Amino acid sequence: AYAIEIKDLKKRYENGFEALKGIDLNVDEGDFFALLGPNGAGKSTTIGILCSLVNKSEGQVRIFGVDIDKDFAKAKQYLGVVPQEFNFNVFETVFNVVVTQAGFYGIPLDVAQTRAEKYLKQLDLWDKKDVQSRMLSGGMKRRLMIARALIHEPKILILDEPTAGVDIELRRSMWEFIRQLNEKGTTIILTTHYLEEAEQLCRNIAIINSGEIVENTSVKALLKTL
Ligand code: ADP
Ligand code: ADP
Repeated sequence: AYAIEIKDLKKRYENGFEALKGIDLNVDEGDFFALLGPNGAGKSTTIGILCSLVNKSEGQVRIFGVDIDKDFAKAKQYLGVVPQEFNFNVFETVFNVVVTQAGFYGIPLDVAQTRAEKYLKQLDLWDKKDVQSRMLSGGMKRRLMIARALIHEPKILILDEPTAGVDIELRRSMWEFIRQLNEKGTTIILTTHYLEEAEQLCRNIAIINSGEIVENTSVKALLKTL
């Protein structure tokens, strides 16, 4: 089964700019997938459409077979998203940032609290649980966003430029955590403009440029052609 199926996806912004010119993309369940491309290529637009933050102009998106136009409420359950910008309430405590998110998915409070503890511990944030999230460093904020994205235990985790502002040390432990999630079965999709990042972490890769997919292959095969 495909985790994500994108067919002839087009996006024209209100100013007439064509950010996506008809992209096709399939991501297998369990994959570790990179969407690689320079700034302005259309990565965030694609992610935005997947999670219904951006309206598409044309095309079809299915998430585990569910058409997002027909039943986004269901599709949403499959998706955990870590956007580029920090968008949590900075005056909430770290613990509450994660627990509050559970409300959007109808998760009972006790379950939410247990999971928040589990993920904050795994992401090395447990000792900060009572701290207002604005006090965290950039790398900690990024990890908080990951913990929050996992609260409903999604089958797919999408990370938009996840290493922006994260130092080398933290990057390593963050990737180790994400790799383990993938090994346990979560489909991982990340966007990046660093080839090294894609090549070191991911199994399959699509290269996007000016709103078009110019390459879609395994990382192994891609490295052979370079
Ligand atoms: P990436 O994430 O690959 O850097 P984006 O998807 O953010 O690329 O942007 C793709 C293109 O669409 C860029 O040229 C960007 O300037 C443009 N764009 C993004 N958002 C808007 C918008 N709201 N209105 C008009 N153009 C936009
Ligand atoms: P990214 O960091 O993903 O490449 P950008 O820096 O291109 O994003 O854009 C930052 C924000 O500005 C986004 O919300 C995007 O939708 C919006 N934006 C980008 N380009 C334009 C544009 N040409 N017109 C209007 N909004 C834009």
